[in-house]
Amino acid sequence: MIELHCPNCGRRNVSEFRYVGERHIRPDPDVADPTTWRSYLYLRDNPAGWTDETWLHRAGCRRYLVVERHTVSNEIRSIREAMPVVASEADAPHAQPGRAQSGGSGESA
Ligand SMILES: [Zn+2]
Repeated sequence: MIELHCPNCGRRNVSEFRYVGERHIRPDPDVADPTTWRSYLYLRDNPAGWTDETWLHRAGCRRYLVVERHTVSNEIRSIREAMPVVASEADAPHAQPGRAQSGGSGESA
């Protein structure tokens, strides 16, 4: 049985959570080209080792969490709340998590 320690709810069975996918930094919509968007949306690393994943605690606090998990052993190294960050903010020395959630209408190719 796998348990995840939610920072808000405590230790819970993994059945309360939904796996969302590998965590990637969202490209800056002002500068990203179609190749960068295609890579962000569709390509995954799928490593046999440590990876950052996004999980939703759907039967608990309904928060998105970043889980650092070993994909072979299912060992979990850290769990924290997810904060939306785009590439340009992640590189900035004064990054302010949360600003990237403005949505916006993208151009369709
Ligand atoms: Zn929770």
